[in-house]
Amino acid sequence: MARIIAVANQKGGVGKTTTAVNLAAGLARAPKRVLLIDLDPQGNATMGSGVDKRELSASITEVLLGEVPIEQAIVRTAEDFDLLPGNIDLTAAEIRLMNEDGREQRLKRALGGIAGRYDFVLIDCPPALSLLTLNALTAADSVIVPMQCEYYALEGLSALIDTIEAIRGQLNPGLEIEGVLRTMFDVRNNLANAVSAELINHFGERVFRTIIPRNVRLAEAPSHGQSIVGYDRASRGGIAYLGLAGEVIRRQREREQAAPARATTE
Ligand code: ADP
Ligand code: MG
Repeated sequence: MARIIAVANQKGGVGKTTTAVNLAAGLARAPKRVLLIDLDPQGNATMGSGVDKRELSASITEVLLGEVPIEQAIVRTAEDFDLLPGNIDLTAAEIRLMNEDGREQRLKRALGGIAGRYDFVLIDCPPALSLLTLNALTAADSVIVPMQCEYYALEGLSALIDTIEAIRGQLNPGLEIEGVLRTMFDVRNNLANAVSAELINHFGERVFRTIIPRNVRLAEAPSHGQSIVGYDRASRGGIAYLGLAGEVIRRQREREQAAPARATTE
């Protein structure tokens, strides 16, 4: 059964999409079977995976609305992972779903039939604690929280933690924090180091050991429709995201070893 991981933080520009795309590519290279879901109307994960968001025959929008079976909307990327693409149509879908029963469970239901085909499903969330993000957190086993180590970062984090706890209470009791990921990190920045220390104080082992440095190659890759693995795997950003993929795989293996009965019956 796939490990379903939402990449979420209601703050924009913290590295959610960069993490979702590059972790997908890193896991695919392992090689793991990976599905990346673009749940952000901006469609950045779609473009960054080399798929044109303006030319989709079907997308996550139709899947959430129950108009198209999920298999029909999934496309294969050049980097050996599957993509359930998204674009601006998601905004309209969100409004239409607003008044429907089970509106938070649409993605979970859609994934039910196909999750077994993958080792990992990654969901790139929009920068808001919206109905779309609730769908991701309801479908997910865990959340990766990318964050920039700056002054207001911890404050924003508490809103997300509150949301995760609310979801645990109602829609998804098993939801875990997969890890907090330090992104765009600059080791020469004292504030970043101080915030990083505070993060470890608060989240302990839940902070990924891997730190994603600020690296221009990571910012360039999407304009080539490539992940950093395809664009420049040997760059500092490439090495970091491959390291993150290794860490995610290791944690998954440890979980499976800790619960062998569960792993074999699923
Ligand atoms: P989000 O999805 O949270 O809004 P993005 O992943 O789109 O954030 O990142 C915001 C911007 O920062 C993008 O232009 C992206 O290319 C750039 N970026 C992300 N991570 C890094 C990094 N580690 N180093 C340099 N630029 C980065
Ligand atoms: Mg994004």
